[in-house]
Amino acid sequence: MSILPENSHWVEDEHRMFADMTKRFFADEMAPNIDSWVENGIVEREFWKKAGDAGIMSGAIEEAFGGVGGNISFDAITLYEQARLGDVNWGYGIQSIVMHYIANYGSDEQKTRWLPGLVSGDIIGAIAMTEPGTGSDLQAVKTFAERDGNQYRINGSKIFITNGKSADLVITVAKTDKNAGSRGVSLIVVEPDKTEGFSRGKPLKKLGMKGNDTCEMFYKDVKVPLTNLLGAEEGQGFYQLMKQLPWERLLIAIQALGAMDFVIAETVAYTQERKAFGKRVMDFQNTRFKLAECKTKAEILRSFTTDCIGRLIDGKLDAATASMAKYWSSEAQGQVVDECLQLFGGYGYMTEYPISRAYGDARVQRIYGGTNEIMKELIARSLDI
Ligand SMILES: Cc1cc2nc3c(=O)[nH]c(=O)nc-3n(C[C@H](O)[C@H](O)[C@H](O)COP(=O)(O)OP(=O)(O)OC[C@H]3O[C@@H](n4cnc5c(N)ncnc54)[C@H](O)[C@@H]3O)c2cc1C
Repeated sequence: MSILPENSHWVEDEHRMFADMTKRFFADEMAPNIDSWVENGIVEREFWKKAGDAGIMSGAIEEAFGGVGGNISFDAITLYEQARLGDVNWGYGIQSIVMHYIANYGSDEQKTRWLPGLVSGDIIGAIAMTEPGTGSDLQAVKTFAERDGNQYRINGSKIFITNGKSADLVITVAKTDKNAGSRGVSLIVVEPDKTEGFSRGKPLKKLGMKGNDTCEMFYKDVKVPLTNLLGAEEGQGFYQLMKQLPWERLLIAIQALGAMDFVIAETVAYTQERKAFGKRVMDFQNTRFKLAECKTKAEILRSFTTDCIGRLIDGKLDAATASMAKYWSSEAQGQVVDECLQLFGGYGYMTEYPISRAYGDARVQRIYGGTNEIMKELIARSLDI
């Protein structure tokens, strides 16, 4: 199974080579470690470095800043192959998002400072939007960055931040003007090791994604230079966030497709082995029909997702279509993993079976990246014009 269609304007030989290389790297370096990541609640830094050394994170970044100068399609391959292997713990989706914010809105000085480290795995990135009091309604963030000489003084808190414990660089969504609504929102880079007043909670205990160090973050008079603002002027944050959302939503669809391919393959293998009433479980018509339904959903998603990747590369993926991809894929993923788990019988409920973990991991896809209710709101808005 693959994220690379046979005939598509955005797929070239180098994509297939990159996919083969990524697959091999994940088989050697990721697969043997997933259990320990889940056990420890974190992906160790060493893995990030190995991924950097292997060139896994360099695909979409300009050569001048440590990348190989390709486009987002390379990140799509990485995210698909990771999910196809059954992993959700390594927070590369967020790393990719962070790299693209810096590549798109950073000054040359900021790109030179941060991008090579993000590509090499020396810097782990996070993006902190959600607060205890607000998630969907991003304009209502309370974290405030006040100018203080040539610095910002930031106060506030964030919650549910992926890669939170490890992060060396946190793109923080903060108000720089409390009275300007969405025009008062800015993106400011905080480097926890270079500032006082920043602290993090213990990794949060979750239903799934147990190997990611999702954390709370606290800002108490955190001082960062004014030059850590992303973009030429304050108040651009909301616009910058909106511009990046199509990729953030599409990457969830890519992960959903990888996860569906993973659970279908696991279930086919299991039902071919398992016997009941003297036959393979695969031989029951119910099993065959359920798997046929799952496979059909995966193929429909593959067509839509690969089309959306092409549109994104061409600069033509609009917010409503990206929302459709996020909404539909995460719903389909939930249905598929639930049907597949059922075909494992009691073993499907045991955490040592990857299908059980995939079930817990899938649930959050309908919640983060903008909940599916917000996705439907955005899709409906595009109709109501
Ligand atoms: C594992 C995990 C990782 C995450 N990683 C990150 C991260 O790295 N960075 C980050 O900033 N955030 C992250 N989040 C936060 C996530 O993006 C938010 O949880 C999500 O956006 C929803 O916000 P909320 O939890 O405040 O829910 P709320 O906004 O309080 O929503 C509660 C319910 O109300 C519904 N609702 C809200 N508004 C409307 C509306 N207008 N119409 C209809 N229904 C509505 C929602 O759909 C939801 O069902 C993560 C969350 C999880 C669980």
